[in-house]
Amino acid sequence: MNELAPNEVVLLVDARGRRHLVRLRVGGSFHSHSGIVEHDQLIGRPDGAVVRSAGGARYVALRPTLAEFVLEMPRGAQVIYPKDLGAILMLADVYPGARVFEAGVGSGALSLTMLRAGAEVVGYELRPEFAAVATANVTAMGLEQRYRVEGRDAYLGIEERSLDRVVLDLPEPWRMVSHAEQALRAGGVLVAYLPTINQTAELRQALSVSSFGLAETVEVLERRWHIEGRSVRPDHRMVAHTGFLTRARLLEKER
Ligand code: SAH
Repeated sequence: MNELAPNEVVLLVDARGRRHLVRLRVGGSFHSHSGIVEHDQLIGRPDGAVVRSAGGARYVALRPTLAEFVLEMPRGAQVIYPKDLGAILMLADVYPGARVFEAGVGSGALSLTMLRAGAEVVGYELRPEFAAVATANVTAMGLEQRYRVEGRDAYLGIEERSLDRVVLDLPEPWRMVSHAEQALRAGGVLVAYLPTINQTAELRQALSVSSFGLAETVEVLERRWHIEGRSVRPDHRMVAHTGFLTRARLLEKER
């Protein structure tokens, strides 16, 4: 089943590298300034097909990878970028069947990543319109079976128990430390993504007076390279900062 089929989401990439996500429909068409591509030109073609618009522009049609999907999918809130998503999977040690609590869910980039790694994810998201965007994005990737999002305030507590992992992307994760102590199984992992080091220090302080141990904070720097003929060098620009990643493990309470 390698052929592109109706109803699936494909990524169209033009000659300049511009990207568009398109859901294929029989009789549908994709419009851009370089002309129209009929969906029927793509349906039945292999993943990676090369097509031309009515105006002669070249497009490549691919099933998006998770990273490609996350960067192009509809957004409510800002998403976590692929370089950090990959690191979070390792830091949180997400595995198939792991029971993961996530808050806030935002646009669902992190949800998608953990679902793809095989986790069962329960998310709390304060804003119902973001919860709807996240659910739609997860459904577009066909990963909704192991996913549930509730429109609620995570600071008020986590209802689930015996969780394997708690993964946080909200502004005041220190308010989640005692909730996570209740909700995680012993040996469980907490991971938080935070944009500033002040917030990170506040979280680390809260963790240091909790039952969590083995706390660590890292940031992930990614430098892209320009490689064209004899010009081989780092790109002139890079994303200098996204966020800090903190993780800790729940230990047995000391008597
Ligand atoms: N990690 C997400 C982005 C999350 S953005 C992704 O990769 O797509 C942060 C989200 O936290 C926002 O959607 C915001 O509405 C939500 N949020 C903030 N405070 C919250 C709270 N107390 N409970 C639940 N969600 C909260």
